[in-house]
Amino acid sequence: MSLRMIARLGNPVLLRPADPIDPDLVGAKDFQRLVDDMIETMMEAPGVGLAAPQVHESIRLFVMDPGDRDDSDVGLEILVNPRLSVPEDGDYLSLWEGCLSIPGLRGETLRHAAVDVDYLDRNGEPRRRRFEGFAAAVVQHEYDHLDGVLFLKRMPDLSLLAFDDQYARWFQDCGS
Ligand SMILES: [Zn+2]
Repeated sequence: MSLRMIARLGNPVLLRPADPIDPDLVGAKDFQRLVDDMIETMMEAPGVGLAAPQVHESIRLFVMDPGDRDDSDVGLEILVNPRLSVPEDGDYLSLWEGCLSIPGLRGETLRHAAVDVDYLDRNGEPRRRRFEGFAAAVVQHEYDHLDGVLFLKRMPDLSLLAFDDQYARWFQDCGS
């Protein structure tokens, strides 16, 4: 395994819609190595999610490990060719997000409070899972990367963009 370079804001790879992955290639050694590298890169950063375009691979794959921040108890997940749907009469969630491709900044976004996701796991097996709360926000953030969308576009109010230290000083205790 090895760490991958993370593309930063301004790199066109972050703005390009990523290509679907041929399910027959999921078992290939190169693909499995990429998954292992992405997990290691995410943990080293550290981050709670990492999408393939962030490591210069324009394909529809992301890894995430949102932990138990709001008792959602989601462990390490590897999602290949994910498709999202939003539950009817679903609620919204506003939270502060950061991005490994936009180091040092965070902003308040608006996300769906729950999403259903169909995807292949790293063995190519079809899965369906509902994610809620913080984990749902992570899924939407990483999924957006596959469409070339960054969290800045999900901010209703761009004045709520802050450097990490200023966020910690002025906003962290607001409960959002
Ligand atoms: Zn990101």
